[in-house]
Amino acid sequence: MPNLNALSHDRRISSLLDAELARQRRGVELIASENFTSAAVLRAMGSCLTNKYAEGYPGKRYYGGCDVVDEVENEAIDRLRQLFGVAFANVQPHSGAQANAAVFLATLQPGDTTLGFDLSHGGHLSHGSPVNYSGKVYRPVFYGVEPDTGRIDMDKVAEIAFREKPRLIICGASAYARDWDYPRFRAIADEVGALLLADIAHPAGLIAGGHLSDPAPWCDILTSTTHKTLRGPRGGIIMMGADKPNPWGRTTKKGEPIPMSAIINSGVFPGMQGGPLEHVIAAKAVAFGEALQPSFREYGSRVIENARTLADALTAKGYQLVSGGTDNHLMLIDLRNKGVTGRQAEAALGRADITVNKNMVPFDTQSPMVTSGIRIGLAAMTTRGIGRQECLQMAEWIDELISAPDDEGKGRRIRQEVNRFMEQYPLYPEEA
Ligand SMILES: *Cc1c(COP(=O)(O)O)cnc(C)c1O
Repeated sequence: MPNLNALSHDRRISSLLDAELARQRRGVELIASENFTSAAVLRAMGSCLTNKYAEGYPGKRYYGGCDVVDEVENEAIDRLRQLFGVAFANVQPHSGAQANAAVFLATLQPGDTTLGFDLSHGGHLSHGSPVNYSGKVYRPVFYGVEPDTGRIDMDKVAEIAFREKPRLIICGASAYARDWDYPRFRAIADEVGALLLADIAHPAGLIAGGHLSDPAPWCDILTSTTHKTLRGPRGGIIMMGADKPNPWGRTTKKGEPIPMSAIINSGVFPGMQGGPLEHVIAAKAVAFGEALQPSFREYGSRVIENARTLADALTAKGYQLVSGGTDNHLMLIDLRNKGVTGRQAEAALGRADITVNKNMVPFDTQSPMVTSGIRIGLAAMTTRGIGRQECLQMAEWIDELISAPDDEGKGRRIRQEVNRFMEQYPLYPEEA
């Protein structure tokens, strides 16, 4: 664990780091995209590897002195391949959005059509938002969920794909509580001649643990973050279940077919990024090593159990969950029947040190800055060690606060309970 005292000469930043550590320790963290890394992951991220330039790939660098970082990067690649049972892995993307950008750059031409999950139904910016490069350079079209079920209707996905003839179909989202029908996506992609990308940024840790369907046998390419359910450092990865010759017939100067792995690698570097963050890659290797332990599979089971417990408890209190529940670590709550907006709910919970994010619900009538919903995830709190009883307690607090969103006295009282509760679940206890 890097000792924060090492920063004591920089009082301003040192006190801000202390303040953030205190905030993380005392609050109930329910943001679905967050988690708490191990002290070992933090230690690797705060290491001297940040000083090293290593443009290129292990054994093929543009800088000298890369022997050690080559071993680090190869170890990260090997562990990731083992974790997901895949043939190919690239551990260099700086984030999930960068991983997607690299895949788009490697596999599409400007103006090509992409088919992804509707952003207003819980999709991700990097899948074709008009404010993102992916929506400016390419031609995005979308599938979404049904108003009555809150689930994807695969026949509608097929219909849109036949009509729009996308070059790339993307499965994956940021606020979808259900598992994905990868075999059906594969069949649709084959019929229209599209590549199939699974962006597993959210459920990656649950897929690695075997708790959700495995996209690797069905999808051409997988992208992910490493910092959500996978519980590693902030970063991105790209994988392929199998490496194949590229489908466009591109060849080397000698006339040999170029494998997809080489095309994806060049999408990351030199296509998208410069020097890789080898300190973060070391931390990814540490996190993949942790995820290969049997305890990580148990962690995944507890995440899903906790999410179901909280979802059931909130449903029993009259909350409407989009799709009626959850298969994974998160749930999307439609607050319209409670007469409270997502923004009000986020603020009311925040006053009690319970952190969530406001979130659009499918067919939302509010703006993105207000929203009708909140998204809640259990990955972070499960890392802290909570179980069933604690989920029931959280449901009580959430309901009390959302039922009286302007009651500041109640907010203060519950905050004291929350802070006392969190003392039972220490974070980085070795850190002062
Ligand atoms: C979080 C997320 C990303 C992007 O991750 P960043 O690391 O923030 O760039 C990409 N895709 C999906 C589906 C996500 O949920």
